[in-house]
Amino acid sequence: MEEKEILFLNPVFTHNIWGGKKLREEFGYEIEGDDIGECWGIAAHENGDCTIRGGAYAGKTLSGLWRENKELFGNTDMRRFPLLVKIIDARDDLSIQVHPDDVYATAHENGSLGKTECWYVLDCPKDASLVIGHNAKSKEELREMIAGGEWEAFIREVPVKKGDFIQIDPGTVHAIKGGLTILETQQNSDITYRVYDYGRLSGGKPRELHIRQSLDVISVPAVPADDSVKDASHVTKNILAELIFCEYYKVFKIDLEGRMKFEQKYPFLIMSVLEGSGLIQQKEIKKGDHFILPNGIGKVNLEGRMQIIASTVPV
Ligand code: ZN
Repeated sequence: MEEKEILFLNPVFTHNIWGGKKLREEFGYEIEGDDIGECWGIAAHENGDCTIRGGAYAGKTLSGLWRENKELFGNTDMRRFPLLVKIIDARDDLSIQVHPDDVYATAHENGSLGKTECWYVLDCPKDASLVIGHNAKSKEELREMIAGGEWEAFIREVPVKKGDFIQIDPGTVHAIKGGLTILETQQNSDITYRVYDYGRLSGGKPRELHIRQSLDVISVPAVPADDSVKDASHVTKNILAELIFCEYYKVFKIDLEGRMKFEQKYPFLIMSVLEGSGLIQQKEIKKGDHFILPNGIGKVNLEGRMQIIASTVPV
């Protein structure tokens, strides 16, 4: 049988008012500017479609491969490539937002998917925090707090540190704070409702808020803070250590020291190297690389010292 190739991807970058320089200076991506907010490492979205970096499919887009070479991804019946993986460098605070679920998005956003996402904290300052959830106890209190602009009382800030893992279900109020670098694994959707933007101006004007939609979709009361954040800084070495298994994705962390071998039994397996360098099937890989292990690749050999976040779809 012909050997299956690993699909290495060329990331797509975004410039954002809250972006910084870390993606170039710390991850080594060749991209100009001091406002680089996001590196879309694995993406097949109309706002960013990665191309294949080499081999038989060089130059093809991920969305094109998904359409034309379904066997690489296990012939799943999903219409669109289901996941999006990005690294976010927040020099400044992001707006406070919430995402709809599939049902709401289908009805109100032209059949779009909802958005469930999760974060792995790559780097953050000492005493860092994230906005996860809110303090309103009822829908009525939620409406009052938002209408009255009681942001300080409304927003729930949760302390986080490097290596924390956070699941953000639809309906969860959330925001990344300045100083944090995060790897996000999410459903392939871009539907975001902005609840509050700290009164900031962009090009002289406040950015649009989506209060009506936010009131529709925010879950009340919020999930307890302790249930949202999990310490994943150290996991069992040299295995695919599961961080989450939900309706849309399975996410794993690999803390590699030396060698590991495993059977790739998923429809496909996404990997992003967060730290270190080494080999996969004797090919060199390093921090900042994003690739997909296709269906049928069989045994996978990893070697070196690396931290990797991997993901796939549940079957
Ligand atoms: Zn989000």
